[in-house]
Amino acid sequence: MKISKWILILSIPLLAIIITLVILVFAMGTSLLSSFTDDDKPEFDGMILGPIGENEIPSELIPIYQRAAEQYNLDQWIILAAIHRVETRFSTLGVMESPVGATGHVQFMPCTWMGWGHPSCGGLGKGNMSNGDLINPELITKYGGYGVDANGDGKADPSDIEDAIFSAAKYLTANMSTDGKYSDPLKNAVYAYNHADWYVDEVFMHFNLYSSGYIAKENNQVPISMIGDTVWPVPHTKNITSPYGSRWGTIHEGIDINQAGDADLGKPIVAFKNGTVVYSRTGWNGGWGNVVQVEHSNGLKTVYAHLSSLGVREGQQISAGQVVGTMGHTGNVRSSTGKGTHLHFEVWLNGNRIDPTPYLTPWLGG
Ligand SMILES: [Zn+2]
Repeated sequence: MKISKWILILSIPLLAIIITLVILVFAMGTSLLSSFTDDDKPEFDGMILGPIGENEIPSELIPIYQRAAEQYNLDQWIILAAIHRVETRFSTLGVMESPVGATGHVQFMPCTWMGWGHPSCGGLGKGNMSNGDLINPELITKYGGYGVDANGDGKADPSDIEDAIFSAAKYLTANMSTDGKYSDPLKNAVYAYNHADWYVDEVFMHFNLYSSGYIAKENNQVPISMIGDTVWPVPHTKNITSPYGSRWGTIHEGIDINQAGDADLGKPIVAFKNGTVVYSRTGWNGGWGNVVQVEHSNGLKTVYAHLSSLGVREGQQISAGQVVGTMGHTGNVRSSTGKGTHLHFEVWLNGNRIDPTPYLTPWLGG
């Protein structure tokens, strides 16, 4: 009797421990499960890279953005990629001094880098200092600038990729504000970096495009025209540069949509209607270039050709207004305007290409 009493006394705390462990394991299991099922839900914290981000952001830069964001407690590392894209197209436009004096990979004004306490600083912030002074970490500390020596080479150099990205992260974190022009503190930080609404729009357009699960319609980032259950596929322009029908001795089996010149490059293209992505591939694709095909109900299919980046995967269910890719000039592009960037849009019915115009007249005031 005595022994069984002891067993009983001991088993109570033991049981409590076991129950706690079971609850813990169960909780971990469900959180793991939810992180898997989150895949198809929109996520806007900017942490999850979507297909366009994977295509466009040079992969060697991603760890730099991520480390910089971590260092300065910036939740949304993709914003650094977006700024780098808008400033110097990931450094492919050159990192030398701009006409207004901005310099390096993300085009810092010298006074922001060095610190506005520098005696030559004022006005737009071009300042007047030697390059030796500009990259001197001790002087930057003295004058209160944002330039940092991230790679530990003793210089804080805006023309060094790590130094530039880490400094941008430091700047954004320091300039987040809940009372500013925008309700989003991160937008206020980007506005502080370059005081222009178009700049904030451009940076956030890329931020959203690069993030996973971006649906333009729901986020109101680009003006979407929705009539019934269909959406005009090019949010930024309704300009048709080539209609369906005879062209150059053959039949143009779709319509071309774009503005003039190269201004359309990289702008979002959205799905005409809810549907399933049946084709999403890079390459020549019979002249289409990078192309997305979406199957809708009642034998209807739409084709989005010459894209610069693909935004959806084959087999994916998508909504009207969801970004399927970005406008480009891949494939066989013949255009009299600019470099030929345009959307070639086709409508298929029961396996045959048809004139898309009747489907689009509601937007065109026809
Ligand atoms: Zn075309």
